[in-house]
Amino acid sequence: MKTTKFLILFSLLIFLFSFFIGCSSPTSSDDEITDPCEAGHTPGAAATCTTAQTCTVCGEVIVAALGHTPGAAATCTTAQTCTVCGEVIVAALGHDWADTVNNRLCLTCGELNFTPARTIDLADDTGDIDFTETGTVLIKGVSNGQRRIHINDVTDVYIENGTVITGPDAVSSIQISVSSASTIYGGGSDITITGGSGTSEGIYGAVDILTIAGKMGSISGGIGGIRSNTDLIITGSTGNISGGNFGLYATNSVTISGSIGNDTASSLTGGFMGQIYINSSSYNDFPLSTPKPWVWHD
Ligand SMILES: [Zn+2]
Ligand SMILES: [Zn+2]
Ligand SMILES: [Zn+2]
Repeated sequence: MKTTKFLILFSLLIFLFSFFIGCSSPTSSDDEITDPCEAGHTPGAAATCTTAQTCTVCGEVIVAALGHTPGAAATCTTAQTCTVCGEVIVAALGHDWADTVNNRLCLTCGELNFTPARTIDLADDTGDIDFTETGTVLIKGVSNGQRRIHINDVTDVYIENGTVITGPDAVSSIQISVSSASTIYGGGSDITITGGSGTSEGIYGAVDILTIAGKMGSISGGIGGIRSNTDLIITGSTGNISGGNFGLYATNSVTISGSIGNDTASSLTGGFMGQIYINSSSYNDFPLSTPKPWVWHD
C-alpha cells in the first residue's frame, strides 16, 4: 500500500515538474515583436513634386510630395508649367477668334491670322481716310483728332482691341459703302468709336447689309450709334450704343443675336426716334436685357 501511494505521489511530482519545465522553457526569437527602424528610417529617393520620400525599409512617408510650383499663367498658345519639373499644370487655352469662320483675329491675345489687304494705323494718318479696297481691312491705333474712315467695296473690316476712332461732326466715324454685305469684326471691349456732336453716326453702312461681330466697346454719334441703309445685324457683343436720335437704325430690319451693353439701363439709348429705329412696317421682338428697347418705326 505504501508503495502504491509513493508511486502515485512520485508520478504527480514528475508530471508537475515536466509541466513546469515546459512552461518555463525559453521562447524562440520568432515570437518577439521588433521594429526594424528602431534606430531610424532609411530615407529613399528625395521627394519630388508628385512623389513622397519614403523609408526603403518600412515604406513610411518621411517627406510628403512637394506639389508643383506654377510658372507664368497659361496663354492662348503656351501652357502653364511647373518651374521645378516642367509638367503642364494648365494646358494652352487656345485662341478665341472674333471670326469663327476664318479665325483671323483673337479676342484674347489680339493675334492676327491673316495679312490685311490694307492696314489703317490711325497714329500714322492725319485727316480723313477715303479708299477703295477689295478684301480685308485692318484698323488700329488711336486717332489723334477727328477722323473719318470711308471705305468702298470692302468685305470684312477688323478692328484691333484698343482702337479709338473719333469722327468729325458731320459724317460717320466709319462709313462703309459696299456693293455686297460686309462685316465689321471688333477685336475687344476697349474699342471706342465716337461720332462728332453734329449729324454723325459711329458706324454707317451706306449700301448693303451691315453686320457687327466679335467684341466692341462703346459706339456713339451725334445722331446715332450704328446705322444701315438696308439691314443691320449684330451677332457679337458691344458696349453701350447711343445717339442723339437713335441707338440703332436700319431702313429694312434690325436683327440682334449678340448682346449690347453691360446689362445697365443706359446700354442702348436713343433720342426722339427711339433706341431702335426701323423704317419699315414690321419688326420682331428683340432678345435684349432690360430695359426693353424702345422700337420706333414708320
Ligand atoms: Zn522605416
Ligand atoms: Zn512640378
Ligand atoms: Zn489668342
